[in-house]
Amino acid sequence: MTNEIYSELNEAQKIIYTRSMIGRAFSDFDHGQICTIYRVGKNCIVKRKNGIEEKYPAEDIKVAYLKFIQREVPFFSYLGPNYRGPIPWPYQSNTYILLKGWNYAYQGSHKIPEARMQQLWANSFTNLKSIESVKSVLDNLNDDDPDDEGLEDTEKALGHIMTPYKYCSCQAFQKQLKNLDQFKEEFYENYQPMCKHLHWYDNFKLFQRKRNELAEDLGGRSPMNVVIWFYIPPAKQYQKGTFKLWWTRKGLYSDICNWKQINSLSQWDAWSYFDRMLEKGFIPYESSTVPKLKSILCGKS
Ligand SMILES: [Zn+2]
Repeated sequence: MTNEIYSELNEAQKIIYTRSMIGRAFSDFDHGQICTIYRVGKNCIVKRKNGIEEKYPAEDIKVAYLKFIQREVPFFSYLGPNYRGPIPWPYQSNTYILLKGWNYAYQGSHKIPEARMQQLWANSFTNLKSIESVKSVLDNLNDDDPDDEGLEDTEKALGHIMTPYKYCSCQAFQKQLKNLDQFKEEFYENYQPMCKHLHWYDNFKLFQRKRNELAEDLGGRSPMNVVIWFYIPPAKQYQKGTFKLWWTRKGLYSDICNWKQINSLSQWDAWSYFDRMLEKGFIPYESSTVPKLKSILCGKS
């Protein structure tokens, strides 16, 4: 048997081979009483305080990391006040400000300081000419450490500035960027930093593109197949909110009796339902587009 070399984790490995990431890869993993985590050959060795060593294939933990770092988060997680999408920042091409969904975190959260700050700033980010000034308004010290799952959305940052496929100001992305050579060594030569914000933006762009294509296909005619949607945040943060959808084949201004509701949806269903409706040729509208209908339908259910 060859002697295996125990090596201390380098900076990238410290980000990848955390106890929570091992737990994501191996559901029966015990998070307690851990002394040290080493990297040995193709494995991670977890040394317990009682001296026992456990071996976990590094490959499985890497897969868990990649999955976690670019996980899908709900539609409302990065919408600003009044369901506002990414705000283009005019001083750098293809660069956007994503505001965290403070306005939809829980019922009444539109009144918390972070949400109010967003309401105040939403139209003014375009006045800030340096990316550092944008970041200092958006960041409040820390945010989105991939190892602090329980805390990630309770951080007080207002949002992030990002360039699709290239850059995000969040800590998860920045840590990968800072240790990029080590990440490349750990994964593959062309490894690019990634994060849930870049992933969310991709989803949102796709949603917008499909919606625009459908609208363009109508060539100026009013759409008959339409959906209106409305969101009621959960009573407490991290719980399920209520995502309401109504649809009709008779146009936005048709009589109330022509509308049918899809029941029992939460924020986690929004992406897939939007996608499903768009595939079937239905154009979604946020319900305040038709205030009269909104008051009837939202009051009714
Ligand atoms: Zn990010």
